[in-house]
Amino acid sequence: MSFDSLDLHKSILKAVKQQGYQQPSPIQEQAIPVVLKGHDLMAAAQTGTGKTAGFTLPILHRLQQGKPARANQVRALILTPTRELAAQIQDNIQQYGKHLSLRSHAVFGGVKINPQMMRLRKGTDILVATPGRLLDLHNQNAVRFDQLEVLVLDEADRMLDMGFIHDMKRILKLLPAKRQTLMFSATFSNDVRKLAKQFLQQPKEISVTPKDTAATTVAQTIHTVDKANKAKLLTFLIKEHKWNQVLVFVRTKHGADKLVKHLIAAKIRTAAIHGNKSQSARTKALTGFKSGSLQVLVATDIAARGIDINELPQVVNFDLPHVPEDYVHRIGRTGRAGLSGDAVSLVSADETKQLRDIERLIGKAITRVEVEGYEADHVVPISSAKPAKPGTRKPKKKKVDAPQGRSRTKKNAKKKTQTRNSQSNSNNRKRKPAPTDGAGRRRRSDTKKVRAA
Ligand code: AMP
Repeated sequence: MSFDSLDLHKSILKAVKQQGYQQPSPIQEQAIPVVLKGHDLMAAAQTGTGKTAGFTLPILHRLQQGKPARANQVRALILTPTRELAAQIQDNIQQYGKHLSLRSHAVFGGVKINPQMMRLRKGTDILVATPGRLLDLHNQNAVRFDQLEVLVLDEADRMLDMGFIHDMKRILKLLPAKRQTLMFSATFSNDVRKLAKQFLQQPKEISVTPKDTAATTVAQTIHTVDKANKAKLLTFLIKEHKWNQVLVFVRTKHGADKLVKHLIAAKIRTAAIHGNKSQSARTKALTGFKSGSLQVLVATDIAARGIDINELPQVVNFDLPHVPEDYVHRIGRTGRAGLSGDAVSLVSADETKQLRDIERLIGKAITRVEVEGYEADHVVPISSAKPAKPGTRKPKKKKVDAPQGRSRTKKNAKKKTQTRNSQSNSNNRKRKPAPTDGAGRRRRSDTKKVRAA
């Protein structure tokens, strides 16, 4: 299928061609005709599938036909969870709409509200907003919705995760009932479906998977390690492998800051992006990381989401995510043009459940390698990973007894990547956990030594 057959305005097609897009991505192929027909839409699609153009192109097409926005009015509202995503969508709209005379703005918290209020005065055809700032602007009479034609909820699952449900419901009450609503979400959980019932009317449903299923194209390794030794192991790996551009995922903002301190103390150029960082600090970190002046970017899932940092040589999961799908998003950041990527996860015994859920989702056990000098005292049991059947992803609840906190540093450990493979390098899902002593520690004599590839 070509873009030309999608019935989009010729100025939009011209801009799309200038972007270098040869043909619509699967989500665009499916979503654009549905949106052009005026239907509500519920689409399961992640970042990286081209979903942004999937909704912005038909919205631009629709809006260039009608009357321009009056003072303080908005014709299309795109709600997003993060400032980064808002800024990125706004960038895309500017690119795709550069041959049209539509006005678009992005508004989000963390920056002064007054300039945003000024910009909204003349009316906005497309407004990209985070929920909290949008409500602030509405409270100050800077934005009105009488002319609203289209509402987009982008990354709806993420907005729910971030606790925006009440803000979203407040916003819903301000919008005209007669409108077109589009909802994009990486997953259709029960909560997302509940949200859809409140916001959408007889939506069409579409679903795509990312063009590259990262889980099969990215080389994945687990280093089992005690929690207390993770930062030291990461420092060692960065230096040993001379990683010059590595994106490190952590679960919490506090964890991110702690790790940054540790790495900087080890003379590794590092910065973090997370929700407590100012917009300018995030932009600076991102620019530094892309230009190579920073070696390591430490990010929480939420902050990293929507940021255009892909095709990296190396991704590290310092912590495993609670949501297994996030693991697939994370490792999808690696892999340079034509080459497969490399993702390393540092896994401690308290993350057994997360690991099991991830291995179940991707349908295989990830290769485990212990790095000499950093072997885990507390065993991470092997999961019986089986591919999840569609619709049965919810893992069974099982309490995991994970002893914690004993750190063991081998001062004079030989620092080379001679590794210990606690199971086998291939699919080890049927193997039993290595024998352990009463406290959950593996008996050293049962581990097999192999050299790292
Ligand atoms: P998204 O999933 O919307 O964040 O898009 C991911 C990336 O794909 C962005 O960098 C887009 O510029 C790019 N992209 C979107 N549509 C296409 C297309 N049809 N062909 C090539 N690249 C695209």
